[in-house]
Amino acid sequence: MDAKKEKQNRIRELATKHNAVILAHYYVADEIQEVADFLGDSLYLAQQAQSTDADVILFCGVNFMAETAKILNPQKIVIVPDNTATCSLAECLDATDCIQWKQRFDNPYLISYINCATEVKTISDVICTSSNALKIVESAPKDATLLFAPDVNLGNWLNKTLGVNMQIWNGHCVVHHNYKLGKLMECMTLHPRAEVIAHPECPEEILQYADFVGSTTGIINYAKKGSCDAFIVLTEVGVLRTLQMNSPEKHFYTIHSNPPICVNMKRHSLDKAILALDTLSPQITMNEDIRLAAYKPLAKMLELSK
Ligand code: SF4
Repeated sequence: MDAKKEKQNRIRELATKHNAVILAHYYVADEIQEVADFLGDSLYLAQQAQSTDADVILFCGVNFMAETAKILNPQKIVIVPDNTATCSLAECLDATDCIQWKQRFDNPYLISYINCATEVKTISDVICTSSNALKIVESAPKDATLLFAPDVNLGNWLNKTLGVNMQIWNGHCVVHHNYKLGKLMECMTLHPRAEVIAHPECPEEILQYADFVGSTTGIINYAKKGSCDAFIVLTEVGVLRTLQMNSPEKHFYTIHSNPPICVNMKRHSLDKAILALDTLSPQITMNEDIRLAAYKPLAKMLELSK
């Protein structure tokens, strides 16, 4: 048996021993994806975290995702393989700046992307993910001043798509924001029949050329069901594994020879997952008042997503 398989087997043994469920995001390394009980995007993983009856959650994603699992499951032990896995987008806005920004508007209604700090969630009216953002924004009160944080590209795309005029915080993801239009043009010239499928965290100049814009899950479903056999993929490369597995006969292209990767998602490894399950650490902990305040807008999102 090869070393990778041995480590994956050890992870499964430890998961059984501790009645642990392993949740993994599409952007983590393939070897981690392979060993997960549930693989998905932010919304799916939050839903799984909410419904699991496991005693322990091993969360392989960035920290705000593991914190979301803890907010939804205060009684469960939530552990991560590497607790330095942060998200550049979530770090674009802290609670103090968010409060001051909110105070500048009359009757504000803050819609926060799930990629934000727990403290920002506590002062949000509702949370959204890229899977449900259209629905969540449409459900916002019509008489309020709508604020959207922290992703400027997703916010602009929502404004344009829905014909609304939300005030938007100027944050971005270092991965999706770094796709270059020139490289996309080169790739479209090389593969003229390929459809462009993009995540809404990409800049507007990129999104205007997309045949489909949607969440990671939306992208996966679109490529699987679509009749086209070639796609230019504009989201983190971790998704290529699922795209190719679902449609081995189709072709998937990235626009950069070294596409921008989410280095934080890649911090998790099999060795770190074994250690985390063996020691039940590092654990996600949280002040109960903060958790309760963050739970409210998250629960509202999950209710609106049903
Ligand atoms: S890809 Fe971007 S938004 Fe997603 S976790 Fe990484 S840094 Fe955050």
